[in-house]
Amino acid sequence: MHDIIIIGGGPAGLTAGLYAGRAKLKTLLIEQMVAGGQAATTDLLENYPGAPEGSTGPDLTERMEEQAKKFGCEFVMGEVTGVDLSGKEKVVTTNVGEFKSKAVIITSGATHRKLGCPGEEDLIGGGVSFCATCDAAFFEDLPVAVVGGGDSAISAAIYLTKFASRVYVIHRRDALRATKVVQEKAFANPKIEIVWDSVVDEIKGSETVEALKLKNVKTGEFSELPVDGVFMYIGLVPNTKFLQGQVKINPAGYIPVTANMETDVPGVFAAGDVTAKLLRQVVTAVGDGATAAVAAEKYIEDNF
Ligand SMILES: Cc1cc2nc3c(=O)[nH]c(=O)nc-3n(C[C@H](O)[C@H](O)[C@H](O)COP(=O)(O)OP(=O)(O)OC[C@H]3O[C@@H](n4cnc5c(N)ncnc54)[C@H](O)[C@@H]3O)c2cc1C
Repeated sequence: MHDIIIIGGGPAGLTAGLYAGRAKLKTLLIEQMVAGGQAATTDLLENYPGAPEGSTGPDLTERMEEQAKKFGCEFVMGEVTGVDLSGKEKVVTTNVGEFKSKAVIITSGATHRKLGCPGEEDLIGGGVSFCATCDAAFFEDLPVAVVGGGDSAISAAIYLTKFASRVYVIHRRDALRATKVVQEKAFANPKIEIVWDSVVDEIKGSETVEALKLKNVKTGEFSELPVDGVFMYIGLVPNTKFLQGQVKINPAGYIPVTANMETDVPGVFAAGDVTAKLLRQVVTAVGDGATAAVAAEKYIEDNF
């Protein structure tokens, strides 16, 4: 049996792994893909303290993983499909086996939201993408679109201008949500064109994306925009499905926690983007992860 099982290897989980390992607790981190989480999908983190030149997400999270491993945190690649958190001994079920521990830290983060329009599902991998850093290079000198108006969307649009011939930002409102400094960079970039008050009604294409059918939400008019790729940045869905009925989850799907990252179940903690909170960023995820590990250590000391 492990002391602590951490579910998810993004910045919150990797930091929890570092702190728990360094406290000499027998710690297992379960990650369904490569470690790094959402942070590993962004090419530039400009707001993580200590790197004024900005660091890339993959660089930063690879170093986090190395540091957690250095202090003895074990890693298993597998998807957590269910949990039984009711007893003193916690059971975590995955597609590669069952694991038990005295405490659990949930750091399963969040996943991109899909638009749900016709063509989206069929053309994933054929020009529909959720990660500009991963796929931008496929669109050298081609026109692409980004859907969304927040920080992630506008940062992705700016990044895409390094490759694409033109980047259309499709935004359903008449003002962006992104922070001012990011907006200013986008407005100053001649390759970016913002299509205001518009939503994607359909993604057209047989094998690959050929065009977007857009609807202007103010006039109700439809138009067609020829593009070779479309990048979705329309928000997040918390990864809490495997927890149903086990810990308290709010109506939006996030886990409410105390200041010490405790959930409503003794011995179960949550950290990072999966929790109900104001700011979902790397800097808050790592702080949450550290707190969760120390709180779990204290719980184990007091209860075992
Ligand atoms: C494109 C983009 C750009 C961003 N830019 C910035 C930025 O500039 N600055 C900044 O501070 N933040 C940025 N963020 C936000 C930042 O990446 C997140 O706040 C941070 O990664 C949250 O960390 P986390 O560990 O809580 O969750 P996540 O990073 O979401 O990691 C969760 C991990 O859990 C795993 N997981 C989920 N479910 C399971 C399961 N059932 N079984 C096993 N593993 C599971 C996932 O595979 C994932 O690796 C950006 C995010 C995106 C998407």
